[in-house]
Amino acid sequence: MTGIRAKASLAAGAALFVALSGCSGGTGPSSVAATPTASLSPAQVVDKALSDMQRYWTETYPTVSGGKPFEPLQGGYHPYTQSTPPPACGGEEGVYQPNAFYCPVGDFIAWDAEKLIPQLQSQFGRLLVALVFAHEYGHAIQHRLGDTDQPTVVLEQQADCYAGAWLADAKAGHSPSFTGITPAQIDDALAGMLQLRDQPGTSATNPGAHGNAFDRIRALQDGVENGATKCAGYNADNLPITEVPFTQRQDAANGGNLPYGEAVTTVVNDLEAYWAKAYPQLTGQPWKPLTVQPFDPSSAPACPKPDAIADGAAFYCPEGDFIAYDDQKLQVLYDAFGDNAVGLILGDLYARAVQHRRGASTEGSAGQLAVDCLNGTWTYDLLHRPRQSNTPTLSPGDLDEAVGALLALARATGGSGASGFERIAAYRNGVLNGLSACK
Ligand SMILES: [Zn+2]
Repeated sequence: MTGIRAKASLAAGAALFVALSGCSGGTGPSSVAATPTASLSPAQVVDKALSDMQRYWTETYPTVSGGKPFEPLQGGYHPYTQSTPPPACGGEEGVYQPNAFYCPVGDFIAWDAEKLIPQLQSQFGRLLVALVFAHEYGHAIQHRLGDTDQPTVVLEQQADCYAGAWLADAKAGHSPSFTGITPAQIDDALAGMLQLRDQPGTSATNPGAHGNAFDRIRALQDGVENGATKCAGYNADNLPITEVPFTQRQDAANGGNLPYGEAVTTVVNDLEAYWAKAYPQLTGQPWKPLTVQPFDPSSAPACPKPDAIADGAAFYCPEGDFIAYDDQKLQVLYDAFGDNAVGLILGDLYARAVQHRRGASTEGSAGQLAVDCLNGTWTYDLLHRPRQSNTPTLSPGDLDEAVGALLALARATGGSGASGFERIAAYRNGVLNGLSACK
């Protein structure tokens, strides 16, 4: 996959979700409504989010500031619309944009109350709205701590980490407003985060500087798992920023997107080569080449007990020891997320074959997470092997495509197994740490 093909959009993501979930009923944002406060308007959700951030940071700030108390935002909160633009931030006149931002000079938070917030709430649920404000509060915390002399990509990930720290606190039941948070709600919010790009009120001049979604979700999960103190320690030297080491501008300039058919061939060839090398390391046994066959939905190859994903659109057949996929549905994924969605899906099936061949389970939450970790190790190899002209290379966009496709699959399959949140963490473990992380 030489090249970037990041074309996931709100519309494409939604279309894919429909395509994957078929008639089985959604686990999308509508299911988030099963709470007593479901009928809250966007403005009410924002009010609750902001007051909860103040509650959380009043309690938490002393633990990261050496005991200093939290001081509420002096500039307050400013919803804006197209006809009533946001206040000026420092020397910059307030101009309507569909975003939310923290202004350090004015110490205020402003947001598009007309389009952005209502749209996020209706598409991804109120937890995403809360996380948007948790992120902006994170910038206010940075400003208070004087931690702002860092690259933008670090500041953005730190704000995501602080948002995760708030999420953990709410999940633990400490928030009076955001109660009973479910894995499905969190996955909906992650899907929204994948679509968001933060545009701070000042200085965001480098479009690559905000971090890719892969890194930003890592930072959020770090905050959930390790809390605000961990976030406060972020700096340019201790963050695993995947974006920087392997951004290849020349690839982007080449416009080297692989056409669908070529993407499939490239991915399969590389997965074969990878597992021929990795399977013996994992098991001490040689790897036998796998048969991979596309099928038309009306004539799927017979398989008594397929180990299937995406509602049966792709599967590994243990009895016949082959992989098969619905050619049309795989192309839908490719169109929605980009060429590395093909890599994610076929990589998942190869990981299933690995598990079956070595007598390990792919069932239940633990089996799924083992598959996701193994799947990630192929990407680890892509990132660490010597550059050769005849092997594919990855771009940051490719990682985001994989995460987007992974999350869409997890959401479409509902609450039966691991959550998208857990699956992304397992996948990332394989991507960042390689095969030894999955044993
Ligand atoms: Zn930000």
